[in-house]
Amino acid sequence: MSLKVYINGQYYDKEDAKISVYDHGLLYGDGVFEGIRSYGGKVFRLKEHLDRLWDSAKAIWLTIPMTKEEMARAIEETLRINGIEDGYIRVVVTRGVGTLGLDPNRCSNPQVIIITDHISLYPKELYEKGLEIVTVSTVRNHPAALSPRIKSLNYLNNILAKIEGLQAGCIEALMLNHKGEVAECTGDNIFLVRRGELFTPPREAGILEGITRAAVIELAQEAGLKVHEVPLTKHDVYIADECFLTGTAAEIVPVVKVDSRPIGDGKPGPITRDLMERFHRLTRNHC
Ligand code: PMP
Repeated sequence: MSLKVYINGQYYDKEDAKISVYDHGLLYGDGVFEGIRSYGGKVFRLKEHLDRLWDSAKAIWLTIPMTKEEMARAIEETLRINGIEDGYIRVVVTRGVGTLGLDPNRCSNPQVIIITDHISLYPKELYEKGLEIVTVSTVRNHPAALSPRIKSLNYLNNILAKIEGLQAGCIEALMLNHKGEVAECTGDNIFLVRRGELFTPPREAGILEGITRAAVIELAQEAGLKVHEVPLTKHDVYIADECFLTGTAAEIVPVVKVDSRPIGDGKPGPITRDLMERFHRLTRNHC
């Protein structure tokens, strides 16, 4: 049976789930989105994802044509219809159909799309052996131009970085901000461990404030670790004892090499492994 996709309150077979070529989401990347996970039939941190979606929409003057409660129900219904318990949810809100010009006021109907699918994680061995990443020359969007806090449909900045990473043989790439500080990866936040304490770039570094990032900060604090949200340089990454990435799809993935340099002893470290275990428990027991 084909997966059903929600568009504006209707369900369509995946193959027939289409929107107009005049939609400004397509023409200009004008819209917002979320990537969410469901574990054991329960949506993980749904409130936080909906809050971020609404904040992103507000930042681009887009009114989502439903309430958060209605959106939550639609997400749960889409999962139920597709029989998905452990899966990935993509919520997209576009500006809607407009003219070929930029003017968003000429777009009348924001399109609300909910796709639920089976999650395809990085290969299992990456979680055991760790990932290699490279720093790329594509600078993370300047926060004063297009804030990385907005999860907009315009992901070209990340895509350009991803291409550079792939060309260097890496599936994730580290982006610096306009000041040369560590920002984040193309679809994940970054953490370092140094002398038993956790470090991650602050919001001001120009990052998406990851929901996994927030969960990991809570878990680390519960485990008695000090967490520092401070500006970091590439040097900090190179001399870290451990490094890992966090994201909804990736969860927590250890990084063992950056720019050809081994991190720590070149293997996933004990604090990373402990946090992976804690995160696993959290997602399986969450309410
Ligand atoms: N940064 C970027 C650029 C991302 O696209 C994502 C994935 N949404 C993240 C960080 C991680 O955020 P989250 O933990 O909320 O998935």
